[in-house]
Amino acid sequence: MASTLAELLRKARGQLAEAGIVDAALDARLLVEHFSGTTRTQAISQPDWMIDPATVAAVEAALARRIAGEPVHRILGFREFYGLRLSLSTETLEPRPDTETLVEAVLPLVRRAAQGKGSCRILDLGTGTGAIALALLSAAPQAEATGVDISADALATAERNGADLGLGGRFRALKSDWFEKISGRYDAIVSNPPYIAGKEIAALQKEVRDFDPRRALDGGADGLDAYRIIAANAAAHLEKDGIVAVEIGSTQKEDVTALFERTGFIVLEAMRDLAGNDRVLVFSPV
Ligand code: GLN
Repeated sequence: MASTLAELLRKARGQLAEAGIVDAALDARLLVEHFSGTTRTQAISQPDWMIDPATVAAVEAALARRIAGEPVHRILGFREFYGLRLSLSTETLEPRPDTETLVEAVLPLVRRAAQGKGSCRILDLGTGTGAIALALLSAAPQAEATGVDISADALATAERNGADLGLGGRFRALKSDWFEKISGRYDAIVSNPPYIAGKEIAALQKEVRDFDPRRALDGGADGLDAYRIIAANAAAHLEKDGIVAVEIGSTQKEDVTALFERTGFIVLEAMRDLAGNDRVLVFSPV
């Protein structure tokens, strides 16, 4: 059935609220705007704008997915990260605002390296959508990045995001199991690796557990497997004065620090996210 824009928005909000969706009003607006091709301004200035039946049906299908628990950005197929619009796929972790902390921690170091030598090479391990690498490239015009992932589908998504953002010329996607296919040295090795302990996965929010790829979450029995690999191999792939920056779970600061100290690194910087949780560690070789 056809509907006015105002009526469609009102119904969408009502359905999501009734289903107990926390951000019902916001999610309703995002889904209606995206699937009807309308804007927020239009909803205010042209509430009687007619939406045709096929479009109403598309919005209703999107609402049903949200009510079934799918995160709103998975339904939209994209999410903003560090001001960049990134496409998602089922093989990519949904980029989180917390991870912008890592970008902010690394950016001054990347800029300094770029100014000093006229370039800066970044290696992003487990790049997913390419979020971290592309955010750094967008803010550091002299940098170049290699995004590594074990998922070909994730790499295709990262590559597409790079091209869509006009950063493709400085971004290379490489299929590799961590460092396996990496040769050469980098000024910054960055990663938001899987860091959830295996037994804690079942207790994650449904939206994370059922929709983020398991491979991007599962850090092995104690959640630290990826850090062991990075700590053991990073030094061999770092330029002089290079750094390693990793996102961590909020309770992992001491364990991850100990792992890196054992392989010859010291903590350069520890940062918390906006919620005040330990979130990022930056290391340099001793
Ligand atoms: N931050 C994610 C979460 O807890 C986990 C991402 C990861 O393992 N790197 O939802």
